[in-house]
Parts: sequence; structure tokens; C-alpha cells
Amino acid sequence: MWLPEAAGIGGETLMDSTTATGELGWMVHPPSGWEEVSGYDENMNTIRTYQVCNVFESSQNNWLRTKFIRRRGAHRIHVEMKFSVRDCSSIPSVPGSCKETFNLYYYEADFDSATKTFPNWMENPWVKVDTIAADESFSQVDLGGRVMKINTEVRSFGPVSRSGFYLAFQDYGGCMSLIAVRVFYRKCPRIIQNGAIFQETLSGAESTSLVAARGSCIANAEEVDVPIKLYCNGDGEWLVPIGRCMCKAGFEAVENGTVCRGCPSGTFKANQGDEACTHCPINSRTTSEGATNCVCRNGYYRADLDPLDMPCTTIPSAPQAVISSVNETSLMLEWTPPRDSGGREDLVYNIICKSCGSGRGACTRCGDNVQYAPRQLGLTEPRIYISDLLAHTQYTFEIQAVNGVTDQSPFSPQFASVNITTNQAGKRFRRVQCISLSWENPEVSSPPTTSLIFFSVPRQELSEYNATAIKSPTNTVTVQGLKAGAIYVFQVRARTVAGYGRYSGKMYFQTMTEAEYQTSIQEKLPLIIGSSAAGLVFLIAVVVIAIVCNRRGFERADSEYTDKLQHYTSGHMTPGMKIYIDPFTYEDPNEAVREFAKEIDISCVKIEQVIGAGEFGEVCSGHLKLPGKREIFVAIKTLKSGYTEKQRRDFLSEASIMGQFDHPNVIHLEGVVTKSTPVMIITEFMENGSLDSFLRQNDGQFTVIQLVGMLRGIAAGMKYLADMNYVHRDLAARNILVNSNLVCKVSDFGLSRFLEDDTSDPTYTSALGGKIPIRWTAPEAIQYRKFTSASDVWSYGIVMWEVMSYGERPYWDMTNQDVINAIEQDYRLPPPMDCPSALHQLMLDCWQKDRNHRPKFGQIVNTLDKMIRNPNSLKAMAPLSSGINLPLLDRTIPDYTSFNTVDEWLEAIKMGQYKESFANAGFTSFDVVSQMMME
Ligand code: AMP
Repeated sequence: MWLPEAAGIGGETLMDSTTATGELGWMVHPPSGWEEVSGYDENMNTIRTYQVCNVFESSQNNWLRTKFIRRRGAHRIHVEMKFSVRDCSSIPSVPGSCKETFNLYYYEADFDSATKTFPNWMENPWVKVDTIAADESFSQVDLGGRVMKINTEVRSFGPVSRSGFYLAFQDYGGCMSLIAVRVFYRKCPRIIQNGAIFQETLSGAESTSLVAARGSCIANAEEVDVPIKLYCNGDGEWLVPIGRCMCKAGFEAVENGTVCRGCPSGTFKANQGDEACTHCPINSRTTSEGATNCVCRNGYYRADLDPLDMPCTTIPSAPQAVISSVNETSLMLEWTPPRDSGGREDLVYNIICKSCGSGRGACTRCGDNVQYAPRQLGLTEPRIYISDLLAHTQYTFEIQAVNGVTDQSPFSPQFASVNITTNQAGKRFRRVQCISLSWENPEVSSPPTTSLIFFSVPRQELSEYNATAIKSPTNTVTVQGLKAGAIYVFQVRARTVAGYGRYSGKMYFQTMTEAEYQTSIQEKLPLIIGSSAAGLVFLIAVVVIAIVCNRRGFERADSEYTDKLQHYTSGHMTPGMKIYIDPFTYEDPNEAVREFAKEIDISCVKIEQVIGAGEFGEVCSGHLKLPGKREIFVAIKTLKSGYTEKQRRDFLSEASIMGQFDHPNVIHLEGVVTKSTPVMIITEFMENGSLDSFLRQNDGQFTVIQLVGMLRGIAAGMKYLADMNYVHRDLAARNILVNSNLVCKVSDFGLSRFLEDDTSDPTYTSALGGKIPIRWTAPEAIQYRKFTSASDVWSYGIVMWEVMSYGERPYWDMTNQDVINAIEQDYRLPPPMDCPSALHQLMLDCWQKDRNHRPKFGQIVNTLDKMIRNPNSLKAMAPLSSGINLPLLDRTIPDYTSFNTVDEWLEAIKMGQYKESFANAGFTSFDVVSQMMME
């Protein structure tokens, strides 16, 4: 085949005269013009050609028309012609009309409609493409009559749009031979480039056209930049690549980037990209081809933050060569690091202390009073100083070696242990504390003659049975000479003529350490924390009043803890009504978890999605399927790995608190997972998340009745908690969760955020004795930590304001100090936009300075119920104060018209500090002030 100069570039032939086996049979006009003859091409193949040579006759106009050529989708047609032309000057006595050129025309048609006379043999209807001249003309014919000089010319035309066309060659007095005609169009072939497949694309209608083609990623590749495009030019070449696809994780590019192949066994690729699969790191392997990571071999693990290309590691071996030196009741331990660090560099040590009394019986874990320096868990150096041990006591210390993968191993950490016995205690403790207890006598027909108190100094010092009994003829007793920093358990029973009653529930008390005692004298801090065990029937109703005793005598410890203590043991509760028990008053907080939270087997839990970040780890949604129960949607709070024992305790304390509650407006605990890692708290799922963000996302979308309904739910939940003597301390819209039915539930019973060493969440401001969310907290709780259900009512008023303003920040961007000052000066938040005045009045009631004047949660529920039953009561809107949008509402604000100057008025409303700002902003007359807006 003689063709393609287009060879190598995409093209498709529509007609080729050289492939004709018989006559071409093209139409000629007039019959004396073009003539079909057989000839040979340069390879001596027989071909059919057309000749004309009427140079000696004048006025020649000889047309030659091809057969109908189908377009086949092409927009631009290329015609390649091979021809020879006789040089006019080489012809003897040739007339001046001799030509060395011919014209090329085309005519479009929808079907093969041409006849001898149609289309007319003239330009228009024919469209002229060009006049074709020979590059070389010949002046001789060889002996065989064969043409020696052959010209090749290519012309193109377009756009063409009908189903086909004819070509015509017009001679007007030349001597020439048309040897071959090929008609073709151009196209860009299907290719794979930049990880994408581009299908065959026809060139555009103009030679300069660029036709855009969209590529699609090859199998197992994914788009990196979009769109993925190439352009097909008029010559059938792909140009201007845009965007690309890359092999996804687990696949690598092979065969010049045209195939993404799964990583062979033993190799992996973690991310999408051009890089090749890499070999599995040491101690790991793949389970199939196309691996995105390598799994650790048995006994080897990867910590959460370990990169995938890091070798899998294992737990360390035990520490070695422990040396102990005892000094009275203190101890120094030193050791050398384990032989095998497990392949990691994050080795730390934990110390487990077990006290074994005087040697008889089993050992128990040491209590909280033992001191460790620098700390008990997470030691980075191989030494520790332990003090405040009991005298003459055998101890066993286990030094555990722990690293980043210890949590993942099913085995306990390897440890080295050492036994020691302490000596005589140094004179460290003064016995300066005492407890005074009193109780109400039971309602029995004859008054009790004797009441008994048992108290026992717990296990560290004496065995469980070495309790002491005190008989008291009255209903009070004072126990003196208690040891500092120890735990005591008390039980009381009454005796009448009829005999002994049952013992009351156990009450635990912890006396202060020496250091705490010193501080308490300065700060009047609580001396004693107490609790009773749950669910016990009190034969006698015990009211315990704790008294601080010092050398000067007794002093009542009027503190929140004493309040609590009274609450725990109050005899005035409704029979059957449960009372909240602070898990931290348990000697072993794990016991509280066991008592109040159901242990769930991890196989029942399906974690599905991360929905938020909690204080201790991720919060996820998932499903829980307990045997014999239907599957339910749950929220799962996890404890991130690498936690300390204290963090685990704090984390689980929320479950021990939540597990004591059962109310439709209090978040419901399903249970805990503590026997496997990660440790989890599982609660009912609340589809709409926390109330503050839910309201912000739905600004203005609810009716007042809907909002009041939400507030009613929160108040009902709080009434229940208050009835259980639980003080929340952090009631805020962020701590209310909303389900798909808009039911609001009180949540967030964690305690740790109040602790001083908490992370730096700006909502919680450090104050003496803990962190406080200033904007939500009642003044007496900020000033002297008087947290009560009445201070929760104050917070509830703030929640009402948050709800009615759809999640606005209370006191906007005022500083905490400004908020404290403003509240102190009797300013209160103004009604939010469109807030019914009855609701704002209820808020103001919650914000009464005197906490005894605030409504109880029960009253709040009743008031809201009345509003819901009588929606007309919500029609009256709260007016904005005195025509000015003051930042805060002062209920005793004097009307500004009674003042002469703006400064005087500001002084009167205790806003004197803003005089300068008002003046600077041009608010110098009441006219201007009355125009002033919130901004
Ligand atoms: P928390 O640690 O309790 O503050 O939880 C962190 C976030 O997780 C919250 O702000 C919620 O968005 C989400 N969350 C917690 N508990 C639940 C639940 N029971 N249902 C749905 N979302 C929850």
C-alpha cells in the first residue's frame, strides 16, 4: 500500500482507487475528456488511472467525478492525489492555452443521487477545494509510455455533515494522468495515558480544531486531579494531558503505567500513588495479594501511632536486678532495664504495690495513701521512691515493664518483684482528727436504749475483723484519735427492749492527710468525705454530721462535702427512692463500676463510625446485640490506649454515675467493656448529637412549643437527678443530647474536667478547688464552691437562654471577669429574640441571687407544663429593656430620661466604666443613645 504519509498517526481510509480490482467506472464529462486506462505504480502493480491530454483543442472543461463516498462520522476529509503532469513547454507547437494544473472539487449529498447531468458540471453546486499544481512536471515519456515523475499532493476540507460526498477533478487544457486517489479522515486512537483510558476520538472539522476527550481511570486506579482530559488535534494526535489517575492502595503501576497490579504476596502499599509495593516490615506478613498493610505475626503488635512501614513489635521482657533499700516506712527501688525492649523505644515502668499485713493471709493492693515519687505509673527512669507505707508490714512490689503495645497483648506485662518488710514508722502522723456522728432514732414504739457504732480501720492497718464497737446511750458519738489519710467504715444499729435492729449501710470516711489538714485550716476545706452503700434498708435513719477536730476543740466543717455527706445518709428520703452514690467514695472505684455498670462482652458490640471526640478518646456510633435482645443503635465512648490507671478510673467513673440513673430524660447506660481493650462506655444513641450544635444548625426552625417541650424534658431529667441528690455542676446545652424525636437527655457525668490538672478547655476556668464553667455557674458556686441543686437551677436558666436563642453564647464575647462583675451588680441576660416573656421571667427566677429563692426543678417542670397546656401564655413577647438594646438586662434599671447626661445615666446603671467608650463612639446624647443597637 502506498499511503499514509498519515502512517503512525490514527487515520481511516474512506476510498482508495488503487485497491480497485476491476474498472473504477467514475463518471466523465464530456466523454472526450478523461479516459480510464490501466497502468502500473512504482512497484509495477497494475492500477487503474485516468488520463487527459487535449492540449491542442481549445476551451477544454473536462470533469471526472468519483463514486459516492460515505463520510462515516468524519468531520474533515483528506484527499491524497498522485498524479503526473506534462510540461507544456516540452510539447512542440503547443498553444498558449496549455495548462499544468487541475482543480479539485467536492459535493455533499445524503445519498448516491448523482446522474450524468446532476450535479451540474460547474463550480457551485460543486465546492472548490484547491487548484492543484505539480511540484515536478515531466517532459518525456519513456519507451514503455510510463510516467516517470509522480507528484503527491494532499488537500483537506470540512466541515462535512451529510452522509457522503463526491469528488471531482477538472482539467481545462492540460496533459496529465491521475494515478491514484485516496480519501481518508484522521482520528486519535484509543490510548492509556496518565493512568486513564481515552477512547478513539475523531479529529475536529477544522485542521486547527482540538476535540476534548474525557478519560476514565484504569482498573484499580483512582482519580488524583480531575477532570482527566486529553485533546485530539486535526492531525489525529493527542495533546495537552490534564489530570491523572494513580493506582490505589494495595496496587502498583506496571507495564508502563497501563496496568495497576495488586501487590504480590509479602508486599504492601499503604496509599494511593505512583510508588511501588514494598516488602512487609519485620515480624509482619500479608494474608492475600493487593495488601494495603501487613498484619503482625502472632505475638507482635503495632501501636496506634506506629507507621505501617515500621516493624511489628512486642512487649518487653521483665526488668532485671531489682535493688531495694528500706528506710523506716519508705523504700527506694532501682533496677536495670529489661533484656528485650520488644523492639520499641517507648518503654516505661509501672509499680504495683501489694501489702501482705504481717505475713499471714493473702496480699491486697495498697491503698491510695502510699506515696510514689516521681509517680506510680509510666516511670521513664529505672528507679522510684515510695513512702508512707505502714510500719512492720510485708509488701510485695511488682515492677512492670510496659511499652506502646502492652495493651494489645493478651498477656499481663512482664514484671520483676521484690518483697520487703517495713520497719518502725517515723513520727510522722499526729492523731489530730476525729469524727462526730449523730443519727435519728428509728420510729419504734419504745425508744432505743442503746445504739452501736462499729468502726474499723481498714485493711492496711488491721484485718477486716478487727473492728471496734462503741456503745452510746444517746444518738451521737465522737470518735477521736483517728489516723490521718486513712479510711474508716462505720455502721450503726439500734437496740430496744425487743433486741437489736439490723445494721445501717456502710459509711466510708477518709480522713485527711497531714498536708490536707494544714490547708483545710487555712481554707476551711472539707475534712471528711463519706458515703453509704446503695440499696440497704435503714432500720435507723442516720444523719451524720462530720466535725473537724483540732487541738483547740471541735469545729463544724461546713462544706459541700459535709452537705453531701448528710445527703447520702439522709433519713428523710422516700422509701424505695434511690440515692446517688459518689463512685470516688468507694475504696476501690472498680467496685463501683462492677456495682452500677453491666459488663458487656466485646463480641456483642459492633463499632461503625467515629462521631466525635470525647475527653478520653473517640466517640463512635455502632450497634449492640445482647443475647436474647434485639439489636440497638448505641454510642460508644472509648478510652484511648496508653491511659494511666487514674485516667481509666476517671473515665469509668462516668459509667458508675450514669448507671445509677434510670429516667427518660437522662442518658441511659447500656454497659461497659472493661475486660478487653479499648475500654468502652456504651450508651443509647442520640441521633441529633449535642443540643447546642443542634440548635445552631437549625436556627429559627422550631415553634416556641417545641422549644418549651425540649426545656421541659431537661427540667424533668434534672428533677430526677436532684431527687437522687445528684448535683450535676455542668448543666449546659453542650451537655444535653438530643435524639431523633427531639427528646433531650441530660448527659456528661464525667468528673475529671473539674480537676485542676485538666487540659486547657477555655470553657472551664481554673478556680480554687477545680475548674468551673463560669458563664453557666451560680455566683455562690463560683465564689465559695457551693454546688447544690439550686446552683444547677441557675445553670438551667442559662440553658433556657441558650435554647431560646438557638445556641447563642451566653454573655456573647464578654470576658469571664466581666460576666462575674455584671452578675454581682445584678445584671441578667436579656430575653433572646422572640422569647415569650413568661419564659424570660422563669430564667430570671432561676437567676435569683439568693439560692433559696430560686424555683426547684419540680416547680420548673410544673410551670413549663402549664405553658404547654396553655400556649396563649406564650404569646406575650418580652420587651427589650427601656428602648435600648443594652448588653444586659438590669431589672432595676432607671429610665435614662430622668438623667441630664449620658455619663450620669451610665454611673446610675453601674456602667461607669463604659463612659469613655460611649464618648469615643459618639454616644453623647440620649437621642444618639436611643438609636444604639446591640452591635
Ligand atoms: P462527650 O465526651 O460526652 O462530650 O461526647 C463527645 C461528643 O460525642 C458529644 O458532643 C456528642 O456529639 C457525641 N456523643 C456523645 N454521646 C453520644 C450519644 N449517646 N449519642 C450521640 N452522640 C453522642
